[in-house]
Amino acid sequence: ERSYRASASSVGRGTGLYVLLFKDQSETRRIDRMRADFIANASHELRTPLASITGFIETLRGPARNDAAARDKFLAIMQEQTTRMARLIDDLLSLSRLEMKPYLAPGAEVDVVKVVNDVLDSLAPLASENGLVIERRFTEETASVPGDRNELFQVFENLFENACKYGQDGDRVIVSIDRGHEGPTPTIDVTVRDFGPGIAEEHIPRITERFYRVDPGSGAPRKGTGLGLAIVKHILTRHNARLTIASEPGKGAAFTVHLPAA
Ligand code: ADP
Repeated sequence: ERSYRASASSVGRGTGLYVLLFKDQSETRRIDRMRADFIANASHELRTPLASITGFIETLRGPARNDAAARDKFLAIMQEQTTRMARLIDDLLSLSRLEMKPYLAPGAEVDVVKVVNDVLDSLAPLASENGLVIERRFTEETASVPGDRNELFQVFENLFENACKYGQDGDRVIVSIDRGHEGPTPTIDVTVRDFGPGIAEEHIPRITERFYRVDPGSGAPRKGTGLGLAIVKHILTRHNARLTIASEPGKGAAFTVHLPAA
């Protein structure tokens, strides 16, 4: 059952005009709960690497004090953990920055082809480190959409990074840009397709949630912060764009961004 709270506020002094705001309280409670969960998750994610670093410091100051080999190994692990924490803090800041300015600055236009090319050029080393060839299949030379260049850069960066991280079993990542439409609205569609393990159907509706990660199984370490796709979803909502995810487990995953064209 739902409960509603009405609050009255006056519109302009002395006009006698009142606006009634009906707020769905179960919705308010749901958001409060999500926020509390988010803080608990974020704290846990930061505490885990911190605990590991603290443990290694103690070992290095105590039992491993004079063990040069152990020192090198532990320092390498500690460095990895600090990188992970820094990454997590960057992602948390991105999310909170997005929440603080919920609307895009009007009027700006972005060439999606240029942004995608910039992302692929900057991440080419990551692709080759993972043994992946980047295949660009663009039907357009330029494709203008209303939007924020840096935010769209972050969207394609996250999708492409995931394709490199999770698509390692494949030999390539295909990035395509086509024209499409959503109902009557013309769109620019960007697809990032990898040939890794893909995503089981039951996880697909949830992977854009904050901190949602699929357990890689067999004790393999989780690779990311679980915030990348939440950031993607946030940015796309601001751009009136949609994300579709298609995957056949064992054969890879394809993420398509449908951006309303200028
Ligand atoms: P993370 O930082 O963990 O990569 P994301 O929000 O980017 O966080 O992704 C959430 C989860 O979705 C990942 O942990 C992974 O389980 C799954 N995922 C994302 N992209 C892919 C992909 N290309 N192939 C398989 N699984 C993916």
